[in-house]
Amino acid sequence: MPHGKNVNLSKALSEFKTGAQMREKKMSKTEFNIKSKLYDVLYSAARRVLSKYKPCVFKKGKCFTGMQWDCCGGCCHLLKTGCATKSLSCKLYLCEEAREKFPECAAALDALESVAEKYNFLGFRVNKQDVFRI
Ligand code: SF4
Ligand code: SF4
Repeated sequence: MPHGKNVNLSKALSEFKTGAQMREKKMSKTEFNIKSKLYDVLYSAARRVLSKYKPCVFKKGKCFTGMQWDCCGGCCHLLKTGCATKSLSCKLYLCEEAREKFPECAAALDALESVAEKYNFLGFRVNKQDVFRI
């Protein structure tokens, strides 16, 4: 997690309900804004991690595992131009092969995932709209 202003964000978030409690109760606008910001911060941090380690670079249509179809195969959000949505879950996912080959990348993503999990931001191919029901 980046430091600096996010320390205040974390402090503010600690005062709110997490996980299932958050879904059961309607969020205030302030809570929504802070959680939405946290989602974006985590998403950007995950992008930076992936950009640093590049575990999923494709060559001739295949990643290093030899998979012809990447992890997006069959997803309703997948367009010819690529992913059409913002999914923190997808940004934090690495297959077992990639986890073994890029352990530091996996550890960095896991650290972000532990925060995302706390605020119930995760789910298979779940995007930001799904998380916040907007
Ligand atoms: S997570 Fe694994 S299978 Fe998926 S694109 Fe990356 S390296 Fe390939
Ligand atoms: S939502 Fe996830 S699986 Fe679907 S296209 Fe985007 S990154 Fe791929």
